[in-house]
Order: sequence, then C-alpha cells, then structure tokens
Amino acid sequence: MYYSIPKVEYYRPKTLEEAIELLLNIEGSKIVAGGTDLLVDIKTSRAKVRALIDINSIAELRGIVDAGEFIRIGAATKLQEILESHTISENLPLLRAAIESMGSWQIRNLATIGGNLCTASPAADTAPPLLAYDAELTIAGRSGLRVVPVSKFFTGYRKTAIGYGEILKEIVVRKSNWTKWSYVKLGRRGGFTLSIVAVAVTAKISNSVVEDIRIALNSVAPTPIRAYRAEEVLRGKKIEMKLVEEAARFVAGEVSPIDDIRSTSWYRREMSHRLTLDTLSRALGVE
Ligand SMILES: Cc1cc2nc3c(=O)[nH]c(=O)nc-3n(C[C@H](O)[C@H](O)[C@H](O)COP(=O)(O)OP(=O)(O)OC[C@H]3O[C@@H](n4cnc5c(N)ncnc54)[C@H](O)[C@@H]3O)c2cc1C
Repeated sequence: MYYSIPKVEYYRPKTLEEAIELLLNIEGSKIVAGGTDLLVDIKTSRAKVRALIDINSIAELRGIVDAGEFIRIGAATKLQEILESHTISENLPLLRAAIESMGSWQIRNLATIGGNLCTASPAADTAPPLLAYDAELTIAGRSGLRVVPVSKFFTGYRKTAIGYGEILKEIVVRKSNWTKWSYVKLGRRGGFTLSIVAVAVTAKISNSVVEDIRIALNSVAPTPIRAYRAEEVLRGKKIEMKLVEEAARFVAGEVSPIDDIRSTSWYRREMSHRLTLDTLSRALGVE
C-alpha cells in the first residue's frame, strides 16, 4: 500500500521555551522527536497535524547524566545512545535489556525514550523497566516544571498526563541497590517485533528474604502496568518456590489483556503467568 504525507509546517526550535510557545500558538501542532511513531500515524491518518515541532536541537532534552543520587535521561535521547551508555548498563540494566529488544539499529538511532513514553502504547517497551524503577518524569510547560511518577503518567489507552502545551523534559531514576533483575519480552518473532507480553522484575534480597520487589508488564492492559498485588505476595518474605508460584498466579489475575493482531487475550494471560514465573525464578534464584 502507498501512503503519502500531507504537507505540514516544520519548526526546529533551539530552546524548550520556544518549543512550548510554538505548541501553544500553532493550533494543530505536535512535537516530533524520532518520528518513528508519529510519521506512521500521520501517513495512516491516525494523527492529523498542521505543524511539526522538532525537538532534536534542544540541547537540554538530550543526553544521559549521572547526577550522583539520580540518573537523568533527556526525553529526546535516542534509544541507541541509551543502549551504548555505560551509566545505563551499570545503573539501570533492566532499561538497557528492554531497549536492546526494541526495533532495529536504524529505528533505535531515530527513536527516543520520550517518544516511546508519550505515544503511550500498551506495548511501549521502555515502560516496564521505568515502572519497576519507579522513575519520575519531568514535564515542562509555560508555567514551569512539574514532576509525575511514571506510575501516574499513563492515564488510559494512548493517553498520558501531558497537558496542552506541555513537553516531556526528562526521565529521572533514583539510584538504588536493586541487586537482582530479570527481563523477558515475548514477540511473534525472536527480534524486531512488538511485544505480546514483556515482564520486568527487579528485587532487593537480604539473607534470602525479599526486602523489596517490583514487577511490571506491558501489552496486557490498556496501559503498561505494575503488578502490585503480586509484589505484596513476596515483599518481606523468605524466598520459596511456592510463593513465587503464588505471585505469578496473582499477576494472571491483575492483567486485562485484549485480542489483537499479535495475540489472543487468553494467550497473553497465560504468558503473563508463565513469563512472570520465569522472570521471578531467575531474579530470585529459585527453580
Ligand atoms: C519498524 C518499527 C519498529 C518498532 N519497534 C518497537 C519496539 O520494539 N518496541 C517499542 O516499544 N516500540 C517500537 N516502535 C515504536 C517507536 O519506534 C517507539 O515508540 C519510539 O520510541 C518512538 O519514539 P520517537 O522519538 O520516534 O517518537 P515520535 O514518533 O517522534 O513521537 C511519538 C509521540 O510522542 C510525542 N512526543 C515525542 N516526544 C515528546 C516529548 N518529549 N514531549 C511530549 N510529546 C512527545 C509526539 O508528539 C508523538 O505523539 C517501532 C516502530 C517502528 C516503525
């Protein structure tokens, strides 16, 4: 099938303030970062856009900073830059594992972490690790900055907490000694594919007791989710296979998957259970 892109105005501001003013002053304008979601949506008429505001020249939206207690990732940082960053591999291995599974080298060189979050697809692959790390998102608007925890960012299917005239500025993750982690993404192929289900687990273990644990999934509900009830089954308990099995059963109860072109809801629920069992067993070191 042949798609054409309708004519749009194009702006490339150098500052965040300029970008926000353009967004507020041009009706029908939209931010573009990598364009790997938005241009597909424009071509297929899912999005109607009068003007594109390209944020790639805004320096404060780019890059990864180790700020001592926190890691800061600019929203317009390319996925490939994150994949190649030592700061990320040392401090946020779950995020690295998820990004390694995303798209192709060409897509990752264009696509940004902010674009992945702002599209708010239930299948967004950077969401489960950021939910597991309890990341905070800084949103910029005309009246300044506000911070939203990633757990409150996705407000519905393809909906976010970003308001009119606002731009996602950065993703902030507090460094913590999450010593154990495991990530798995199931797709229709081994690579270059969207997820049917992905599960991210991170845990703190002390003397065989689960001090803290986070479990997050994508593609199993209208938004990426944390499996809070399953986490409660394990938090503060001595690691035992029967508790891991119980937690995985809770996950199957917490998801609300749909049928779509990638999978049936039955298969997604089943895989949520089995993949959680696998990731938990691996992260907690039980068989
Ligand atoms: C071939 C292919 C393979 C893909 N594989 C995967 C995959 O494996 N996993 C996956 O999760 N996704 C995948 N995607 C989807 C896409 O590449 C990602 O979601 C990507 O991270 C989007 O980032 P972007 O910078 O290209 O976003 P864009 O397309 O530029 O923007 C997406 C949306 O976010 C908004 N936006 C972008 N940045 C900001 C900001 N800073 N503030 C406010 N709004 C903003 C835009 O207005 C737009 O609505 C794939 C896409 C393609 C085409």
